[in-house]
Amino acid sequence: MWSLKVCVRREDHAHTLSLLYVNPYPSFTCDVCRGAIAQNHCMYRCSSGCDYGMHVKCVPAKVSEQAPMNEMTFQLEMFKLQNQMKVHQMAVDTMLLGNHGLHRNRYYRY
Ligand SMILES: [Zn+2]
Ligand SMILES: [Zn+2]
Repeated sequence: MWSLKVCVRREDHAHTLSLLYVNPYPSFTCDVCRGAIAQNHCMYRCSSGCDYGMHVKCVPAKVSEQAPMNEMTFQLEMFKLQNQMKVHQMAVDTMLLGNHGLHRNRYYRY
């Protein structure tokens, strides 16, 4: 489940969006789905004062990486990260093995 955060960031907007528990505007158009946000409903709005806001349900669509992730996404990211580390470790092992297997022929010339 997506839990409501007091502020989130989205890829398509430079500023932080803050959660308004009560929409004070009689008519506010959601910048994601273009639908009207009913007055007195929760919404997210740009904290820097832009005329930019959206439904709470529309926020997760394009949330940027800094924003909290839901459980599934989190598991997936961890899995990817672990895989990356494994690949990295394998590369290091191969390099070390390569060095060990390398016979350095030294020619001493007198
Ligand atoms: Zn919307
Ligand atoms: Zn803004």
